Amino acid sequence: MNPKIHISQPRHTSHQRRKDNSRQQTTVIKSPVVPFSGPHLFVQDGREKSLQRRHPWVFSGAVERIEGAPASGDTVQVCDTQGGFLAWAAYNPQSQICARVWSWQAAEKIDADFIYRKISNALNARNQLKLNQHSNGMRLIHGESDGLPGLIVDQYADVLVAQLGSAGAERWRDTIADVLQGLCKPVCIYERSDSDGRELEGLPKRNEILRGKLPAELSIAENGIHIALDVAAGQKTGFYLDQRDNRKLIGKLAEGRDVLNCFCYTGGFSLYALRGGAKSVLSIDSSAEALQLAQRNVELNGFDAARAEWQDKDVFEALRKLRDQNRKFDLIVLDPPKFAPTAAFAEKAARAYKDINLLGLKLLRPGGILATFSCSGGISDDLFQKIIAGAALDAGVDAQIVHKVHAAADHPVLLSFPEGAYLKGLVLRVAG
Ligand code: SAH
Repeated sequence: MNPKIHISQPRHTSHQRRKDNSRQQTTVIKSPVVPFSGPHLFVQDGREKSLQRRHPWVFSGAVERIEGAPASGDTVQVCDTQGGFLAWAAYNPQSQICARVWSWQAAEKIDADFIYRKISNALNARNQLKLNQHSNGMRLIHGESDGLPGLIVDQYADVLVAQLGSAGAERWRDTIADVLQGLCKPVCIYERSDSDGRELEGLPKRNEILRGKLPAELSIAENGIHIALDVAAGQKTGFYLDQRDNRKLIGKLAEGRDVLNCFCYTGGFSLYALRGGAKSVLSIDSSAEALQLAQRNVELNGFDAARAEWQDKDVFEALRKLRDQNRKFDLIVLDPPKFAPTAAFAEKAARAYKDINLLGLKLLRPGGILATFSCSGGISDDLFQKIIAGAALDAGVDAQIVHKVHAAADHPVLLSFPEGAYLKGLVLRVAG
């Protein structure tokens, strides 16, 4: 227990309301005041509501005042205007998300033990859910959804790749590395803290070894498919683990089909389609490095390279060219990058999604399948479905949703943090 914390009042959360029926009035029970000698962040009246719903972000516009002089990464006590306890959070004066919640428990102390508990909880959850049975590539920590805001840790065989996207994660960097080293015993912990998000958080970019030594070659075996990856130069942490289950689904649907895989990266969907017995697989991406690795992956698995065709092209242009050439496919995958990181980009992103989906639907033979994805946090499930419905209408096809899909279970979504559900996908069958 933190000796500085004394809970002097009965513990109620301030959203507990007591209704006095006789007078038809609602009395709000105040959050307890929790003595703390460190810095305090007071949110404006009314802005405590999202925290009471356990949404883990405090936006700078919601702050009433700050007491003490917290530095980036310091733990602050987040309070309502009356000083009632709401949460412990990591402060970041440079970010629009100026505090990210570590804990809702007044009695919690944010220290190395806390970090240890949170990391071991995340690892235990994955073990209990038996997520490591069919792959040695797995997301071990999924940021806010695992109670560790801004921290992503992906495992690729005996290498871990960490992405520290918040001032809080940055503050506890060494502890996080020590705990991961102790619990997972990797040969290397590699840090890929070089996303654009780091700049928004006022943090320097980093792409380097955090612990151990990086093996010259690295691959995972996912559902029996070998996938080589480059954690230092690849995208994100090196690979898109979130699509694991969806790749498997495409593998099941690919038999005897002419497949088009757009935004193929290192060939994930293409490899499953080849194993699944696709007649041909055309894969398109604008990254030459990704395509090189994709072709190595075909070799690594001993698949027939003659069935695989690769195009280093912009998908928007390539789809138009395929249309003009009158090429047709039976199964098309569209897995573009994040067009709308936030809702502010939704309109522009919607046009881009509609464009590629309209073109994709037109390239399908009757009875063909379109697996279409959005990993944009700024596009909701509903909006995505509406965009695709609009594309089908304009393409003049009747299409049915046969699967609604999302990220694999090692990317859990905290109910109080819907932003965690960034990946959405629809598998459609167009009428025969
Ligand atoms: N489907 C992949 C992940 C795709 S990530 C998998 O399962 O692993 C998005 C990919 O789109 C990246 O490889 C990126 O290089 C590529 N990309 C981004 N913009 C593009 C464009 N305009 N044309 C072609 N490829 C693009």
